Amino acid sequence: MTGRGHSPGGAGGRPAVAVALDVGGTGMKCALVRPDGTVVHAERHPTDAGRGPEAVVATILGVAEGLAARAHATGFAPVAVGIAVPGVVDSTRGVAVWSANVGFRDVPLRDLAVARLGLPTALGHDVRVGALAEARLGAGRDAGHVLFVAIGTGIAGAHVVDGSAAPGAHGAAGEIGHILVRPDGPRCGCGRYGCLESLASASAVARRYAELAGSGAPGGTTPAVDAAGVASRAAAGDPVAGRVWREAVEALADGLATGQALFDVRTIVLGGGLARAGDQLLDPLRAALRDRLTFHREPRLVPAALGDQAGCLGAALLALDTVPADEKPGTAQDSAGAADEHTGAADSTVPPSDERQES
Ligand SMILES: [Zn+2]
Repeated sequence: MTGRGHSPGGAGGRPAVAVALDVGGTGMKCALVRPDGTVVHAERHPTDAGRGPEAVVATILGVAEGLAARAHATGFAPVAVGIAVPGVVDSTRGVAVWSANVGFRDVPLRDLAVARLGLPTALGHDVRVGALAEARLGAGRDAGHVLFVAIGTGIAGAHVVDGSAAPGAHGAAGEIGHILVRPDGPRCGCGRYGCLESLASASAVARRYAELAGSGAPGGTTPAVDAAGVASRAAAGDPVAGRVWREAVEALADGLATGQALFDVRTIVLGGGLARAGDQLLDPLRAALRDRLTFHREPRLVPAALGDQAGCLGAALLALDTVPADEKPGTAQDSAGAADEHTGAADSTVPPSDERQES
């Protein structure tokens, strides 16, 4: 993302921005993003998926058009559009194939956006573009080979090599949450038993604690405890919470060891709600992962740095990848003229989001 983008031409001398949208089941995070990852404008909108896919698509296109108009009005040149969606995404054809959360089924979003805005458009998978952003601008910067793992309601992942997230032959690469770690384990959302996600996602941690401690039982007197609550109880010495936390860490270490055997990455970036536990998760996980590695090199294990902006930034990066470097002035060194810049993405302190695991 460096280099040649200093030409004053191509966009009438105005700095280039990407129009970026990260569409989730409940909300859309939207922004105008410069090629160096600087966010010059951000806004959020409800998805309101209950209205049906056609209404959601209309909102996406309307918001994108509004952002492009805003770019023009504030002295920027919108050069491309990037849209991230959850579920099954065919990036090559630009089609949102399937999403339970948003209700998409074979929606040709890329072509619809091109027709509406007249700009090159890229469609990406929410987790993979989030991984892309962490690998290029966030916690995985300079690592080259990065495994991004988002632990929230589920566990999602993506493998990024030299700034490009591998989608796999069928758009399902990196689904580390469905690595089998306990053949006799609980049933996973995918239908199988013992997937990593069924043991170590935030919802699995809360469910396991409820089983063992009897909290949140129907008709019971104790309220349900979420994963953050389990973490703080474990830290305070609650033995049941401690056991649940250890079990989750062990399962995660098994999954990550398999990931490292397959991908041999330099850095594993952990995002999602459970990663907010910080060192309480990372320290025992590092040790447990080290125990499991034999000849493989130990990866760096770090928390995500971009928080819930990662998807939007990644959508922007994907969009800008469609544009030749000399048509996107406004890389790091050309940053004059943008009065309302407010976010240095790489230094963002926005907390990680739970919403990265919807797929
Ligand atoms: Zn599964």
